[in-house]
Amino acid sequence: MATTASVYRNGNYSRNSLGTNNNKVERPPSVNSNPKNSLKSKSLRKSAPAALGAAKDDTGVPGRVRVAVRLRPRNAEERVADADFPDCVELQPEVKRLKLRKNNWDSDTYEFDELLTEFASQKRVYEVVAKPVVESVLDGYNGTVMAYGQTGTGKTYTLGQLGEEDTAARGIMVRAMEDILADVSLETNSVSMSYLQLYMETIQDLLNPTNDNISIVEDPKSGDVSLPGATLVEIRNQQSFVDLLRLGEAHRFAANTKLNAESSRSHAILMVHVKKSVRGRDSVLSSENGDNSPMVKSLKPPIVRKGKLVIVDLAGSERIDKSGSEGHTLEEAKSINLSLSALGKCINALAENSAHVPVRDSKLTRLLRDSFGGTARTSLVITIGPSPRHRGETASTIMFGQRAMKVENMLKLKEEFDYKSLSRRLDQQLDKFIAEHERQQKAFEDEIKRVTMEAQNQISESERNYADALEKDKTKYQKEYMESIKKLEDKWMMNQQKHAGGENIPGLKDESSNAISNGKDSRVGNMEELAEMKKKLQKETLLRKAAEGEVNILKSQLAGLKKSEALAKSDISKLQKMLEDEACQKEKLEGEIATLQSQLLQISFEADETARRIDKGGSEEVLGGLDSLMLQVRQPQINDSGNGEKAPIAKLFEQVGLQKILSLLEAEDADVRIHAVKVVANLAAEETNQEKIVEAGGLKSLLMLLRSSEDETIYRVAAGAIANLAMNETNQELIMAQGGIHLLSMTAGNAKDPQTLRMIAGAIANLCGNDKLQMKLRSEGGIKALLGMVRCRHPDVLAQVARGIANFAKCESRASTQGTKTGRSLLIEDGVLPWIVQNANNEASPIRRHIELALCHLAQHEVNAKDMISGGALRELVRVSRDCSREDTRTLAHRTLTSSPTFQAEMRRLRIDH
Ligand code: ADP
Ligand code: MG
Repeated sequence: MATTASVYRNGNYSRNSLGTNNNKVERPPSVNSNPKNSLKSKSLRKSAPAALGAAKDDTGVPGRVRVAVRLRPRNAEERVADADFPDCVELQPEVKRLKLRKNNWDSDTYEFDELLTEFASQKRVYEVVAKPVVESVLDGYNGTVMAYGQTGTGKTYTLGQLGEEDTAARGIMVRAMEDILADVSLETNSVSMSYLQLYMETIQDLLNPTNDNISIVEDPKSGDVSLPGATLVEIRNQQSFVDLLRLGEAHRFAANTKLNAESSRSHAILMVHVKKSVRGRDSVLSSENGDNSPMVKSLKPPIVRKGKLVIVDLAGSERIDKSGSEGHTLEEAKSINLSLSALGKCINALAENSAHVPVRDSKLTRLLRDSFGGTARTSLVITIGPSPRHRGETASTIMFGQRAMKVENMLKLKEEFDYKSLSRRLDQQLDKFIAEHERQQKAFEDEIKRVTMEAQNQISESERNYADALEKDKTKYQKEYMESIKKLEDKWMMNQQKHAGGENIPGLKDESSNAISNGKDSRVGNMEELAEMKKKLQKETLLRKAAEGEVNILKSQLAGLKKSEALAKSDISKLQKMLEDEACQKEKLEGEIATLQSQLLQISFEADETARRIDKGGSEEVLGGLDSLMLQVRQPQINDSGNGEKAPIAKLFEQVGLQKILSLLEAEDADVRIHAVKVVANLAAEETNQEKIVEAGGLKSLLMLLRSSEDETIYRVAAGAIANLAMNETNQELIMAQGGIHLLSMTAGNAKDPQTLRMIAGAIANLCGNDKLQMKLRSEGGIKALLGMVRCRHPDVLAQVARGIANFAKCESRASTQGTKTGRSLLIEDGVLPWIVQNANNEASPIRRHIELALCHLAQHEVNAKDMISGGALRELVRVSRDCSREDTRTLAHRTLTSSPTFQAEMRRLRIDH
């Protein structure tokens, strides 16, 4: 739905416009004007403002040098001398234009990022020029704030005013330190400063005047410049900082008197170093793997961010008379001019994209190499005076500013791992593993001993059994053998006796025949015995064979046992090998865990970065709408560091799967829930993911979170995600069907953080732009909820409310024209008119613009006219038709007034010309 999206996108603004990417100035065709960046240029334009951790990605984010113009009020002398002449410049801050008078009838027009009129307060100047830079420094980037202009135009007033008598007069240096000290905790972080003067190509230490020739050291690898010789003082509190500035000023004055110089000829350079350690974040994935072991947690590397803020009060930009009328020789005059003209040359070269930038030509350009065409966020304020007598100098100052606007930097996070403490932690971890390994080894050896012993016992027992059995058999057979021998001997003896008895009986008849028959008998008896003996022998042999068989069986049993012992031994060695494999596997897994861990840190960092940006109220893109405030999931090629690696979130999305991420929205652990909702919000910021998220039930889960959670961060991030999803017509209907209005209203009632309210108002404002949902939105209290949020006076919230009202009024007026709506506007019915009238001339232009449109839409339907008149809206409408800075709105208001008979009659009655 193109209408909604475009209305929506116009609905945002930022107070910190210098810190944003928005501007209407005609810029050189390239964001990628810097040749170094040309490869990444296209995708970088779309990339999210957050940079990745330097630990992994060092491509950086583009950030053009921002330029503001500040006009000094006429001083006493000018009020008299120029009394009859107009100022040589005219500032039109609302259109960010400056007109430089050529003569009475002609002038040149220039556009700048910000115009600060003679009425601009010091506070406003700080907020517009320096605050975004200071915030970047606190986030770990380098930052530069620099003032350029003719002597006497207010450079020192803008940067260095201490404001001790009048708080309102405090300049950028003092205010920057206040913001820094408010952000860091000095127990764990550190803030330190150096203060220097650069005069005639010599750097002097303003904190220690004896130190009067400090050299610049460049790191050949990183190209970073540092001044190791400069005094670096740790800042303890605001007062100590102001004291140091005052001391520096005094030394500057003394040094310049000695050198017979004026401070307008030297550059003053303040360097503030901020070192912050970043707390390690819990990972979303650790629970995903089911691996919550302490080891995974302890592998989180602690991170330190080192931002450096450089504030430069340049020498006066006016040309020095080369004749040396100020008491200098020509050589001196050249040297005095050198740094400033070298700066001009470098900026020209960068602006024109030329291949060679003469950085090395002067000390100033070497010191500022990171500020122009480098990695710092840089903001330049050019100061001019009103006097027509200095038109020439003013013109050249303006041209310097115009060229500086073309310089593109690549912001890079100055983040490092704190390797020392990581290594300490890893050492502890290693010791733990070693001890554990030793324990396991011991247990394993014990087990082997036990198995071996058991096997040996078994073997010796079988041997014993075998020997016993053998012995038993042997004795048995011996006994039997002896018995049989004995029996045989007995028999033999008996036989012998029988023989001897027969021969010794004399006188018997038939003696010989008897003898013969006796002889016959005994031979028969011997034969029988022999047969019996044979039988017994056979039996013996059989028994012996059986014993031998048994012996063989026992022998084979023994062999079997020996074999199983060998098997046991090979099992043991197999187990040993498995143990080694396991150890190997463990090591590999640890490696993987470490990789995942660092990916998670990255992702976590991005999510936090986004949250921070959301918190800051959209400092990165002014008119980009809420969608651009959410972290944009990077296009793969943006992050492509050449090896085809995908953006971490997209990768996470692929690896983990949307379903799992969504399921984490209901996790028990609040931290996990917060991480998950941040990841979903990041994904929802990209149109291609939105459909998938809704399909997978993400919208329902986000709405559930609004219902069930009590955490403000979850409200804010979930509402942001819903706001992003609500850019699409189908989703708008789904949100409504799932009771979204009721939930958003309820959350709006509970929320305190303006950024939460802004997200909710943004979501409702999107719904307000859908023609089909008008009645339902109103009947479910959407308009009342919007109106309720104006209790928070934050301009971002008011701008979203105003946008919602304008969207609603626009749909209504469309419906009226088509004849589908009759009767008074529902906005009037719900009592929005008084707020509209009250804010119709709001000083914040996004609020004002939406309300002006809303007024025009309401006025288009005659039936609203009476209420508008009685509510005081006619007056505002007349004002819009006359004064509105946008021509289309002015015309619309005029046409509307002319075509309404009721308004016409009232204007006649009040004698208002039209
Ligand atoms: P520079 O540093 O550019 O030479 P200064 O900051 O010293 O200029 O300003 C010159 C004079 O003008 C000082 O007296 C200063 O107080 C005054 N001045 C400069 N800017 C302003 C301003 N915006 N409002 C009031 N007085 C100013
Ligand atoms: Mg000065």
